[in-house]
Amino acid sequence: MKPIVDHDLCIGCGICEDMCPEVFQLRDDGLAYVINESPEPELYGPIRDAADMCPVEAISIEEG
Ligand code: SF4
Repeated sequence: MKPIVDHDLCIGCGICEDMCPEVFQLRDDGLAYVINESPEPELYGPIRDAADMCPVEAISIEEG
């Protein structure tokens, strides 16, 4: 699984970082970044939750 943040959509609310700080990091430019592109399986749940909770659906997930 590879999570991706679309920076054209992200509004920097920080929800993804709250839900899964191992993978998402809000930076000074007000956008969330993926800091772990090969997350361990135990993080898949929190990553999917973050994607579901993102208010602008900026998080997509490449399976595989
Ligand atoms: S939850 Fe969505 S809008 Fe909020 S910081 Fe994360 S990617 Fe950006």
